[in-house]
Amino acid sequence: MNFKRIIVWFRNDLRTQDQEALFKACQTGAEVIPVYCFDPRHFEPTVLGFPKTDKFRAKFLLESISDLRKNFKELGGNLVLLRGKPEVEVVTLAERIAADAIFFSEEVTAEERNVDKSLEKAAWAKGIATESFWQSTLYHIDDLPFPVAQIPEVFTQFRKSVEKMASVRSTFPQPTSINFPTKDLIPLEVTLPDLTTYGLEEPEAEQRSVMQFEGGESAGLRRIQTYFWEEDRLKVYKETRNGLIGADYSSKFSAWLSLGCISPRTIYEEVKRYERERKKNQSTYWLVFELIWRDYFRFICKKHGSQVFHIGGIKHQEDSWRRDRVDFQRWCEGQTGVPFVDANMRELKNSGFMSNRGRQNVASFLVNDLGIDWTWGASYFESILVDYDVCSNWGNWMYVGGVGNDPRENRYFNILRQGKNYDKNGDYVRLWIPELAMIQGFDIHQPWDLSMSELQKLGIELDKTYPQAMIEMESN
Ligand SMILES: Cc1cc2nc3c(=O)[nH]c(=O)nc-3n(C[C@H](O)[C@H](O)[C@H](O)COP(=O)(O)OP(=O)(O)OC[C@H]3O[C@@H](n4cnc5c(N)ncnc54)[C@H](O)[C@@H]3O)c2cc1C
Repeated sequence: MNFKRIIVWFRNDLRTQDQEALFKACQTGAEVIPVYCFDPRHFEPTVLGFPKTDKFRAKFLLESISDLRKNFKELGGNLVLLRGKPEVEVVTLAERIAADAIFFSEEVTAEERNVDKSLEKAAWAKGIATESFWQSTLYHIDDLPFPVAQIPEVFTQFRKSVEKMASVRSTFPQPTSINFPTKDLIPLEVTLPDLTTYGLEEPEAEQRSVMQFEGGESAGLRRIQTYFWEEDRLKVYKETRNGLIGADYSSKFSAWLSLGCISPRTIYEEVKRYERERKKNQSTYWLVFELIWRDYFRFICKKHGSQVFHIGGIKHQEDSWRRDRVDFQRWCEGQTGVPFVDANMRELKNSGFMSNRGRQNVASFLVNDLGIDWTWGASYFESILVDYDVCSNWGNWMYVGGVGNDPRENRYFNILRQGKNYDKNGDYVRLWIPELAMIQGFDIHQPWDLSMSELQKLGIELDKTYPQAMIEMESN
């Protein structure tokens, strides 16, 4: 089709490199108007009382939008900001400025798909064309060796098939010039909302955080540069990825990937370059392996639709969960009395991030030890994680909740054994639970094993200075 004026509507694809919608719009030679619409539904309170998007991700989002706008200004244009429902606001703008097409990224889960469908319908009614692009995964959906409905239910089968039969497409370059319309056509520049617009507070600076996450494509690309090239950490990724403290035990790409500030294909190309120029080993492969996990959850969500949010998951299991708000709150606050769980939950609450090892443990504790509704855990993570990704989050929670497609029946994590393997000297627990910091070595993981007099000497009183464990714990 020959378009004269195209709106590129940005969603979870806040970048200018490897941005197919933007690239293809520019290629047509039409005028291009980049638009982002702040959707108030993303900030509403959930039924459990916490905001759907809390301060950490909201801040990261605002920084990402600000960076995207800066990038468009450098290219001689601007990013138009709207507020409201995109299916209304983007179409209204298109009509007002006589745009004849809206280009955007395809999403997979119910809320996002409903927005897409409404937007497409409203645009169609006004004679405006729409084109959507698949650009969130490493492997393109059209390159999978099976139709979505037949995606294997077991990750290993999925991975082996795509590794053997599909290849990763090349990235799209950043457009060198964009045909922006004249300034009088587009709405006056709207100032960015701030956190108070959504009733949120600025997060306090947290020195113990793995890193200060800064939103945006520029910061995401810098992180690749630092982790791969300056710190040279990729070659040891497989050995360090289960760490708990500091910036460099894992890539920390997740937050930028979630909002699409960087694309998995960009990371892939950098891995390949690293393999050519520095080293190729198990670790360099393993980062790509993890990106395939990310792909897998996205395709599983596409395959199973809304079922991934249902209590019975894709296994349609019976609902036998507890819904105890007090116990749930203790878990959220890091007050369960189990130090490894509490340290992780406090890290999350204070920084918006938690390691993969931590996520597996706290999720297992909630569902297996406390028997609490796994969707509550997933909703809390959705609210607070800086790197929340709808498919990775709900997919992983389904797994831990035993209602996903995991061939292993029971994903129970023995917390003390995990503590012993991954925090042997208790340094991680000591970092996040100062009231136990005086306990030496691994003993910090099991304060219940110390005698009353030992505890007294350290100024610790269980149930007063630190909670008694919510469940009976063994010793290790
Ligand atoms: C209960 C639970 C909830 C989770 N929720 C999210 C979420 O909302 N958003 C999110 O991005 N990840 C989620 N994960 C997956 C994983 O914990 C994070 O991706 C990882 O900790 C992010 O740190 P990193 O970028 O340093 O990861 P790295 O170890 O450096 O991995 C590189 C990238 O691979 C992908 N990846 C790694 N592990 C997984 C995994 N298990 N599933 C899917 N993708 C993976 C991520 O995109 C990650 O950035 C969750 C895991 C669990 C157990």
